[in-house]
Amino acid sequence: MLRIHTNPLFRAHETPPGYPENAGRLDAALEGVRRAGFEASVTTSLSKTIETDRIIAKVHSRNYALQLSAACSDGFKMFHSHDNPISRQSYAAACTAVASSLTAAEEIWEKGEAKRAFVVARPPGHHADREEAMGFCFFNTIACVAERLRELPGIERVFILDWDVHHGNGTQSIFEDRGDVYYASIHRFPFYPGTGAAHEIGFGKGRGLTKNIPLSGGTGETAYIDAIESSIVPAIDDYRPDAILISAGFDAHRRDPLGGMRVSEQAFGLMTRMVVAAAERNCGGRVLSLLEGGYDPEGLTTSVEEHVVALG
Ligand SMILES: [Zn+2]
Repeated sequence: MLRIHTNPLFRAHETPPGYPENAGRLDAALEGVRRAGFEASVTTSLSKTIETDRIIAKVHSRNYALQLSAACSDGFKMFHSHDNPISRQSYAAACTAVASSLTAAEEIWEKGEAKRAFVVARPPGHHADREEAMGFCFFNTIACVAERLRELPGIERVFILDWDVHHGNGTQSIFEDRGDVYYASIHRFPFYPGTGAAHEIGFGKGRGLTKNIPLSGGTGETAYIDAIESSIVPAIDDYRPDAILISAGFDAHRRDPLGGMRVSEQAFGLMTRMVVAAAERNCGGRVLSLLEGGYDPEGLTTSVEEHVVALG
C-alpha cells in the first residue's frame, strides 16, 4: 500500500562542508523510514530518462535545463545564486529526483500497485521557478509530478499541500493562474523567500485555488494542526481533487536550525493522518509525498518516522 522511493544518485549532488542541505539528510530520513518498519526501494530505471526530460520541459524551459546541465558539467560551484551550490552530478541528481517521483506516481495512479508513496529525494524542489533556481532547489519536482498526473485520463484536479516551513514560491508561481492544480501552503511569514501572504490567492482561472496560511516565527503545532483541520481539509473537500501531493518539508520541527518553529514529530503524524483521511473521502486515499526541507538530523528522522507510519 505504501512505497518508499530513493536513489543513490541523490548523494551525488554535493554541497560545501557544513551546508544545511547535504547528503546526510538522506541517511536521517531513511533512518526514519526504517524505524517506521518500511524499506526504501531504488525504483528509477534508465528507461525513464526520455519521459523525465519531457515532463521537466513542461515545467522549465529547455534553455534553463541546458544551462543547469552545462554549469554542472563545466564544474561551476553554484547556479544562479549562492543559495544553490552545485557539483558535477547535481543535474543528474535533480533529474533523478523527478524520475523517482514519476515512478512513484506511475505505481499509484497508472499501475495501481500502491496507494501511497513517500519519495526520499534531494535536491528539494518547491522554490524552483520555471527559469530560476532558488533555495537549494533546481527542478520543481512536485510541479513535474502534477503536470504528469494531469496527462492521465480521470485526473482533472490535483491538490498540492506544502507544509515545509518556507513558502513554496516556485510551485505557487507555476500554478497560480490555473484551475486544475490547487496549491496550499502553511509556512513561516515573513520569512524566506518573502512570498506567501494570505492575500495571494491566485488569479484568472486559478483565483481562489492558491491558499496561503502564514504563521509567525515560534509558532507551535496547535496552529499547524488547526490550519490543517479548519482550512486545508475543508479546501480539499470543496475542491474534490483526483490526486493529492504533499511537499513534505520537516523544517518546521522544533529542533530545526533554520525553521524557528516549534512543531513536534507527533504533530507531523497527526497532520498526515488528517490529509490521508481527506484523500480517502476524495480520491481513493491516493497520496504522494515528497521530501522537501528538514535540516536537523534527529528532527528529520523522528518526523519522517511519524509521517511514514501515518501514510502506511
Ligand atoms: Zn524549507
